[in-house]
Amino acid sequence: MSTTEKDINYFLLNYNLVQNHREHLAKDSFPEWRPQEKCGVFAVYNYREPGKAAIITYLGLLALQHRGQESAGIAFKDDNGIQSIKGMGLVDTVFTRETLSSIKAGTILGHVRYSTTGISNAANAQPLVARSFDKTGIALAHNGNLTNTRKLQDKLLLEGQIFHTTSDTEILLSYLFRYRRQGLVNAVKKTMSIVEGAYAAVIMDDDQLVAFRDPGGFRPLVIGKFGEAIVFASETAALDTVGATFVRDVRPGEIISAGPGGLKSTLVQADTKSSLCIFEYVYFARPDSVIDGRSVHQVRRDVGSTLAGRINTNLDLVIPSPDSGVSAAIGLAEALNLPLEWAVHRNPYLGRTFIEPTRDGREQAVRLKFNPIQALIRGKRVAVVDDSLVRGTTARVLTSLLLASGAAGVHLCIASPPYRNPCYFGIDIPVAEDLAVPGDDFDRLALSIGADSITFAEPEDLYNALGSDQSAFCTACFSGDYR
Ligand code: SF4
Repeated sequence: MSTTEKDINYFLLNYNLVQNHREHLAKDSFPEWRPQEKCGVFAVYNYREPGKAAIITYLGLLALQHRGQESAGIAFKDDNGIQSIKGMGLVDTVFTRETLSSIKAGTILGHVRYSTTGISNAANAQPLVARSFDKTGIALAHNGNLTNTRKLQDKLLLEGQIFHTTSDTEILLSYLFRYRRQGLVNAVKKTMSIVEGAYAAVIMDDDQLVAFRDPGGFRPLVIGKFGEAIVFASETAALDTVGATFVRDVRPGEIISAGPGGLKSTLVQADTKSSLCIFEYVYFARPDSVIDGRSVHQVRRDVGSTLAGRINTNLDLVIPSPDSGVSAAIGLAEALNLPLEWAVHRNPYLGRTFIEPTRDGREQAVRLKFNPIQALIRGKRVAVVDDSLVRGTTARVLTSLLLASGAAGVHLCIASPPYRNPCYFGIDIPVAEDLAVPGDDFDRLALSIGADSITFAEPEDLYNALGSDQSAFCTACFSGDYR
């Protein structure tokens, strides 16, 4: 069997596995509304075995599915210039085996999307492509949010620009396309001097793949290698999934071009100040990813350990909120020397059709989703650990389910500070009145949820776990400091 045949079989195996888990993945963000990551980016440059780059990109996008479930797409070059295949839904819904097998290009750009600006529709699905009449063009995949969108949009409209989408990514695309004749790296450099906000992005033209990160480095972006081929991905977990070797993170304010001459780095601003989103570590990134040299799982676990020192009550058992509290629960149980039990079963086959988007509907959905194992809980004072508390729907229903199952007490342990402020950098966080934590009266909050107590991690707990002070991160949604 040739390597390509083996790879296609590997793809088929994954394809079938994924089909079985579609419902499970689709439900991950529901019924409890959670902060949503905007997007995931994955790209391969110059994979020499025909037909393999598309399969690698498909697998890489599957590994990044948690960063966006609304739409998925890839762009590649054929004899007619840059083409794209995009659609609404999960990665395995958008691409078929036949489609992927037919793509022979060795350079592919891929994207999964969750919308924070622009509505969720097929036109906004990425990569976005801009072409000219001579068949040349560019394709762009973007994770993040521009903050001067309105100003730039008005300016472009006055200049006669027609927009085809409602996404801020089209503004990036417009400037990159406008300057592309100066070379992609120069086009990116010029565009970076115009746009503001958060962007970890990859652009391709006929010859090159260029990755770039805003000077604050809000969103992660890494470089990997497959022999001669280069990979860019939002998270290292995607590199692991496809078997690529991690090279390094793209630095804040850096442009990395992969072209016929190899990899080249251009630092746009030497004095960049890191503003990496701290919630990548709290919730957004996969626990098996490593961002800027820090294991996401280890950071969450260390915050869980620190929480142990903030809890002033006797406990018998630690339970992770499925599945978001697992890493922190391990740290907490270890530090308190208490048993850790997966005492709440999570039903992965929940459909979304009959769930009303109301508080009652959401609570009913949580009941459908979770069921406590009574024998483990009866008579126990339990610590329920979650990574964050947003609306509090899951916490409220889980608490009542645990009490109804005979728990002697429910103590909520949240491995991050409370959300208090909106995010303008690519994360969808609800408006203030929808947040569970309006003030500092945590006793009242616990009462409203039905729990005996609630303990949040302090910002210092996160900085200690990260081994750095606040200056290295964006913390605006809990500190209000937008820098
Ligand atoms: S405001 Fe919060 S969610 Fe948004 S980038 Fe900053 S830390 Fe991340």
